[in-house]
Amino acid sequence: MKKIVLASGNAGKLREFAQILAEFNFEVTPQSQFNVPDVEETGLSFVENALIKARNAAQHTGLPAMSDDSGIEVDALKGAPGIYSARFAGVGASDEQNNQLLLEKLTGIPTAKRTARYHCVIVYMRHANDPMPMIFQGSWEGIILEQPRGENGFGYDPYFYVPTHKCSSAELASEVKNQLSHRGIALRALQAALSTKT
Ligand code: IMP
Repeated sequence: MKKIVLASGNAGKLREFAQILAEFNFEVTPQSQFNVPDVEETGLSFVENALIKARNAAQHTGLPAMSDDSGIEVDALKGAPGIYSARFAGVGASDEQNNQLLLEKLTGIPTAKRTARYHCVIVYMRHANDPMPMIFQGSWEGIILEQPRGENGFGYDPYFYVPTHKCSSAELASEVKNQLSHRGIALRALQAALSTKT
């Protein structure tokens, strides 16, 4: 089975990757198993940061690499936290700290203006010098809640209300989240593209 290194150490993402790629014809191994050092995300877009992370993993392992760069865009905050979602409350911030800051910044903003969306970019590179990386993306629309709901998922999920399902993304069963989510959409596109190539 062909091997791919996964350029992420985020436990929530790794769990969702494993679920979505359960039927995938590739063996996907997190970069931690190869002791790949984290790389600084110096890009100014999800695409740039996804490229940086995939290239770093391919460089250190000599394997094809895939990466996920994702985050949440909140309209009332002019698109913040966006690419800074993981470090919204500072480098190394916990999900709880990021969520608290988000709530603070949205104090007094009515529901109708709390619209937001998750974005996910998945990059696949055959090798570190791949001049033609494959890029896939997905988005998912929601509304930021004032109180957390649900225990599933990770990151901003307890505050991300999904109007189509009338609950937060942390209240969705993981299979349902993976069907709807920005990550599910992008990852299934990658899966389809790689499946037709092999
Ligand atoms: P990255 O690891 O730099 O791509 O940062 C991703 C960050 O975006 C995560 O740490 C979360 O804060 C947020 N995020 C991305 N996808 C999700 C999701 O599916 N649920 C909740 N938060 C997410």
